[in-house]
Amino acid sequence: MDDKKLMQITRGVPSPWFVKSIELSTSEERIDVYFDFIKGGVLACPICNKPCKIHDTTDRSWRHLPLFHYDSYIHARVPRTKCEVQRLSHNPKIAEKERQIGL
Ligand SMILES: [Zn+2]
Repeated sequence: MDDKKLMQITRGVPSPWFVKSIELSTSEERIDVYFDFIKGGVLACPICNKPCKIHDTTDRSWRHLPLFHYDSYIHARVPRTKCEVQRLSHNPKIAEKERQIGL
């Protein structure tokens, strides 16, 4: 099993998300995990839960719990969904599943 597959299983990463890359620095005792989503993926509106197209993204990084005593960081381009149900009150929002996995 490769390292990206292992990280995807242990983090419980739902589709359309996947682990894009992992960088390990033994000298800095640091692990950086980069998440991405499949282009053209559909995500749930955080308000009405209807499938939505992705409006735009913003790059974000978070410090996570230590992993094997190494500092760990998560990086992702976080999408905002564009809801077709309630255009004025639901747009644009960070998709709900991305909140659930800590993005
Ligand atoms: Zn909505």
